[in-house]
Amino acid sequence: MLELTTPVQYVKGIGPRLAEILATKGIVTVGDLLNYLPFRYEDRMNPRGIAELRAGEMATVIGEVRNSGLFRTRRMPIFQLTVGQGRSRLKCLWFNATYLQDKFKPGQLIALYGKVEQDSRSGELQIIQPQFEMLGDSSGDGADDKAATSLEVGRIVPIYESAGQGRVTARWFRRVIRTALDDLTPDLAEAIPAVVRGRLALVSPREALWKVHWPEAGESFEDLQSSRTPAHIRLIFEELFFIELGLELKRRQQKTQTGIAFRLDDHARQAIKKILPFHPTAAQKRVLKEIADDMQQPYPMRRLLQGDVGSGKTIIGFQAAIIAIENGYQVALMAPTEILAQQHYFSARQILENAGYRIVLLTGSLEADRKREIRRHIAQGNAQLVIGTHALLEEKVEFARPGLVIVDEQHRFGVLQRLKLMKKSGESADPSASSGQALTNPAEPDVLVMTATPIPRTLALTLYGDLDLSVLDELPPGRTPIVTRRIADDRSSEVWDFLRKQVAKGHQAYVVYPVIAENEETELKAAIKMYRELSGKVFADLKVGLLHGRLDSELKDQVMRMFQKGELQILVATTVIEVGVDVPNATVMVIEHAERFGLAQLHQLRGRIGRGAAKSYCILMTGGKVTEEGERRLDAMVRTNDGFQIAELDLELRGPGEFFGTRQAGMPNFRVANLIRDRQLLELAKREAATVMAGPNSEVTQVEISRALVALRTRWQHTYGLVEVG
Ligand code: ADP
Ligand code: MG
Repeated sequence: MLELTTPVQYVKGIGPRLAEILATKGIVTVGDLLNYLPFRYEDRMNPRGIAELRAGEMATVIGEVRNSGLFRTRRMPIFQLTVGQGRSRLKCLWFNATYLQDKFKPGQLIALYGKVEQDSRSGELQIIQPQFEMLGDSSGDGADDKAATSLEVGRIVPIYESAGQGRVTARWFRRVIRTALDDLTPDLAEAIPAVVRGRLALVSPREALWKVHWPEAGESFEDLQSSRTPAHIRLIFEELFFIELGLELKRRQQKTQTGIAFRLDDHARQAIKKILPFHPTAAQKRVLKEIADDMQQPYPMRRLLQGDVGSGKTIIGFQAAIIAIENGYQVALMAPTEILAQQHYFSARQILENAGYRIVLLTGSLEADRKREIRRHIAQGNAQLVIGTHALLEEKVEFARPGLVIVDEQHRFGVLQRLKLMKKSGESADPSASSGQALTNPAEPDVLVMTATPIPRTLALTLYGDLDLSVLDELPPGRTPIVTRRIADDRSSEVWDFLRKQVAKGHQAYVVYPVIAENEETELKAAIKMYRELSGKVFADLKVGLLHGRLDSELKDQVMRMFQKGELQILVATTVIEVGVDVPNATVMVIEHAERFGLAQLHQLRGRIGRGAAKSYCILMTGGKVTEEGERRLDAMVRTNDGFQIAELDLELRGPGEFFGTRQAGMPNFRVANLIRDRQLLELAKREAATVMAGPNSEVTQVEISRALVALRTRWQHTYGLVEVG
């Protein structure tokens, strides 16, 4: 009998070599194999008669090979196959397919799947490049063939993605999965508590596994193709449920750790109010209260503050900092880039220094002497607010009394970095890890992560599922929506005229390019060259600056500061400005080769304008060919300013793995779930996981909870390789 945890080698028909190939697909155990779901199904119950086919339909045809051959045209070799059913015949073509030569023998039974088309010359129906599968081939012994054939015709047949460069075919998977199901232990443990199963009407694990691979005759074909049969839903929900259960467990464990219970007395309240340069929005007030409530708890805060660009997160970060500082603790504020760290430093000094707080900036590019001095200030507890880049993480910075870590991650930090940060602050609280400070401060500091990426809820639930969530869903008053237009770059002179008019009104503008320097291979306009052209010719009478990633940081800083002070009217830049830079007087953003940028990036860039009361304009210039996906991105930008809508579309276009720019963003690899398709199930899973962990109570017993936690541990270790739980 096979268990779900049995290694796949123990399934009949899988030797060590095949097991190795399967491992490359992440299939190690019987459970993995059975969760390798068909990516589509073919209805071979009622295969189509060739005579009834219609042009334009997708069809499965089962027929006999009549003849086949390769013929060469001037442009390429074409392989042609004719299959027949009685007297009807159907022609199939494959281009450039010399490898198909000699593959088919007359009389063989074959299943074909593809789009039926009408040959424009002969008027005959044909299928071009169909997927195909040989049925009951003559290799192997006869009995086995018969059994296998019965799996392949006269029913709905599962189609699997092949593996090992085609060495492991769909057909092979079908047989082996069937064998595994036949030999599977009849009593599969059920780890989802009964009340949850009842609410979602989940079928048993055994039924789910059988039916997802071998659907019964009455099953809706549409539900099968869209992974919405009860069998699919059971398996998908199960996967999501255990992910959410793990995250919920982590959140609960964090709440049992020792943190700092900051006090929010009248003095601190006054201090927070005093620094405000404006009336906070209702959303800002609500979020600050959520944060302040957390900070007063005896366990460490782990909170994500999500707010679109320009929603006013910075001031909230500063207010939280004041609470910690007024309690005698130090605060670290980390930004993803030096420019942004400098920007925070700049605003912190404007807002906090008058109130007497001591602020330092620590970035990687400082001279060694200076760094050492600043580190000493931090270690001695003189510096109250420490602003920096990753340097704060990477170099050994010791705080005398660390109380709060604020991570302004925009969308640059991934989850992995976040975990690293938390570990490090954990380490520094470990008496064996560092000098003395642990004795004075054994508690974990609070952590506030601020993100400008309006992460779609679905992703936030998994990526940040172990954090509590606050959302700033209101922009400060007086903003007029940004007008976004798309213009072909042969009309650039009109764009420059427009830009000149805005500057004449006293405003400033950004002009952004996708690349820094010219390069023979591309015809993309580069920032350096265009800077020369714009500053030398087009805007020779205006003050134009240049900003890109290869400038040394002192120069970058200087340019940014000049732009901030209005000493530059036009800033030619690369995407280095995409993060956080705040110049409310800038009202125009021209993005050249806008088709080259990702959607999230365009939105971040656009977020640099529209920060003041004056009307702002974003001009997307396109040169050259725009792909279909590019069109959808540009179209979305013109249509909406809503970061959440844009993020949803971005997620759809790029898929969760690419969403954060890198694959290593800490996304678990799902076996059967798909975050886009299954977002509703994910929400349900999160809710159910929370109710289960709230037990035991009249709904869930202690035994059920323990059983779920045991299942959880096996899953997280084996399948997701995520941080260990429990
Ligand atoms: P982000 O959320 O992108 O970090 P910022 O904190 O930089 O946004 O705020 C964007 C701009 O809005 C800044 O110029 C800031 O001073 C201003 N701002 C923030 N909150 C308010 C408010 N309640 N009223 C007026 N202006 C505000
Ligand atoms: Mg910001």
